[in-house]
Amino acid sequence: MTGGATYDVLAVTGDPEVAEVGVLRFRGDDRLRVETVDGLAPPLSRDAKWIVNVSTQFGCPVGCPFCDAGGPFAGNLAADEMLAQVRWALGRHPGAAGRCAKLKVHFARMGEPSLNDAVPDAVAALPATTGAPGGWACVATVAPRGRERWFERLQAAKEAAFPGRFQLQFSVQSTDPEARRRLIPVPHWGLDDIAERGRGFLAMGDRRVVLNFALARDVPFDWRVVAARFDPAAFAVKLTPLNPTERGAALGFRTRLRGGDDDAIGREVAALRAAGFDVVVSVGDEREDRVGSNCGQAVRRTAGWAGQQA
Ligand code: SF4
Repeated sequence: MTGGATYDVLAVTGDPEVAEVGVLRFRGDDRLRVETVDGLAPPLSRDAKWIVNVSTQFGCPVGCPFCDAGGPFAGNLAADEMLAQVRWALGRHPGAAGRCAKLKVHFARMGEPSLNDAVPDAVAALPATTGAPGGWACVATVAPRGRERWFERLQAAKEAAFPGRFQLQFSVQSTDPEARRRLIPVPHWGLDDIAERGRGFLAMGDRRVVLNFALARDVPFDWRVVAARFDPAAFAVKLTPLNPTERGAALGFRTRLRGGDDDAIGREVAALRAAGFDVVVSVGDEREDRVGSNCGQAVRRTAGWAGQQA
């Protein structure tokens, strides 16, 4: 328990050399449980790079079919509840924030950040919370329609608090509109909207906006669609595995990356690079899968959670 927001730590699981996941319960209410990740980027040390991943909603109302964070949704976290997660992670390693060359806070765990009006406020207050000279922030979103004003507020917050040290990431998932409708089951921006609004989000010196594709088998990904719509000066491409989750497994989703399709993916990566894109292939660390630290899994394991869903 710390600062203005009160919470209890129900569990901490994982591998301290990769990522530990805390399950935090807020306001003494069993429905208000979130996950917070205190993570590293092996083989880098914590002094070189430290990643804290915070939740923005209690559950998630979007309900992507491959994600375990969907299910019972119990509302939004207040700005100080998001910052309390950061303080929890920092408090586990006293003094480390001041030494860290790159302390990156991701608003990318449970919840869709753009559905919570308090996220831009939390971003604005983050530098004062961490006191870290190497502070960065990152927001990952599926870009729901109707939240354009929220993106304007986020843009203002990042320009004030993280000039040149902020990353916006769109969870695009597929280049095919029909597949995107299936994978992101709320009205969302099309690729042309992302191309236009993403470019407008950037200021001089900002990092490129990231287009994230969690590559799944039988889900279309066509590098030519990316190259035709997006400006490589404004956008980078990140390819990730589809993390193994209970919902995803039950629905038959299987990852392409780390799933035996590396040659074909390698050709697509080469084509994108030839078209001028920065491409990151982020295979992650298989230890994360083994400890079950993917989104939503830790909360589901804590006592009483199944009862909440019933
Ligand atoms: S992937 Fe993100 S938006 Fe989709 S259900 Fe999970 S937390 Fe929500």
